[in-house]
Amino acid sequence: MRILTKLEIIACVFSITSCEPTAEVTEQIVMTDTAEVDSTVTVALQETQPATDTEIPAPTTTAGSAMLMITDAICEELGAHTYCLSAEWPAPPDTPPDWGAIIDYSPEIFCAADLATELCGWVTSALLTAAMEWGNYGPMEYWILGIDKDAGAQLINTFCQRRDDRKQWPMSQCVEHQSAPDGHGFEAYRKIGADAVASGQPSGSAGLNGDREWGIHFFTSSIPLGFTDYFEVPGAEEQKTVFHEYFHAVQHSYIFTKDHKKRDELLGPIWFNEGGAEYMAQIASRKARTSGALEDINSSGRWSFEFRQNMENFMYSGTYNISNTCPGTSLKDLSYENNCNNAAYDLGAWAHAYLAYNFGESVLMEVFLPKVEQLGWEEAFIDSYGKTSDEFYSEFDQFLKLPRSEQMAILP
Ligand SMILES: [Zn+2]
Repeated sequence: MRILTKLEIIACVFSITSCEPTAEVTEQIVMTDTAEVDSTVTVALQETQPATDTEIPAPTTTAGSAMLMITDAICEELGAHTYCLSAEWPAPPDTPPDWGAIIDYSPEIFCAADLATELCGWVTSALLTAAMEWGNYGPMEYWILGIDKDAGAQLINTFCQRRDDRKQWPMSQCVEHQSAPDGHGFEAYRKIGADAVASGQPSGSAGLNGDREWGIHFFTSSIPLGFTDYFEVPGAEEQKTVFHEYFHAVQHSYIFTKDHKKRDELLGPIWFNEGGAEYMAQIASRKARTSGALEDINSSGRWSFEFRQNMENFMYSGTYNISNTCPGTSLKDLSYENNCNNAAYDLGAWAHAYLAYNFGESVLMEVFLPKVEQLGWEEAFIDSYGKTSDEFYSEFDQFLKLPRSEQMAILP
């Protein structure tokens, strides 16, 4: 591909077949997905509008709204950052379309200046592939930090100027929040990547960190290591993470209330929310890899990434952690504060595999999500799966005691 120099404003069209990965082998440590939903921004911004209790129709495809046909990205190096869009769809207008609608605007991807343009294009293509699979919910802003501190500060500046221009967050407050070394601000995400590279221990994190008031799905991500040559993390792992994050946008698109507490309740327990995103991401990214919709990036010389093996690892680590890290804990007790060393994600993915096996793969998206705002989480669960969550927990506990071969047999 062409090399673009900074400060030039040049469009680079990524073809999903022309970006050649250059795998370089370093060392190997299991990378955890620590994605979570942040509430800090929301608290800082103080939601002032009351919840909307009026009946709101579920997201529907608007008349004439196009199906995405290609997942190519167009990227521009803008000096302070790289900006990518779909090669097919334009950026959304400043005033966002109705919440929850399926739209024909592109997600917007912003990458720190120390990240390769190619990397930014790969994230964009993965987002577009997820949108092709589940529907294009938006508008979406996906901000990716590198490891360089100055580049991170530039990205904070770009982000906060945008929020200030749109009267969403005063510049100084935004910069202060995003520059904090802890929490879910840009600097914290930069530090995760920088620390990983410095220590030789791969680690990454991404999260949905926006405010419903902004009318957009806003994500922040640490450097996607599988799209770099720092470690043996495969590109497929990063593509799956993008799918995972994108599924959070799908979940949020069905929740209209602006009341933060009500939104959390409607998302359900962490195992349901995160396990749903993880299971759907695993399944859908496998399908897209198999069909060729997702480009093969950095697989040679890297760790293997395979759906059934990933799920078996989740079962092993999830049950190990429940027994050893937090004995006596059940799925329903897990929270973001106490996720039992990721068991909420690992066993949550299996809980969704179990529900999908017994009730059909489509129930989550076609039955549960369209009803959750109206019925509330528990009633929507009963309506979708024919049992209370407590009944499900007892049943699933029995499933966890089955021999591994019987557990694996439910996987599609
Ligand atoms: Zn997540």
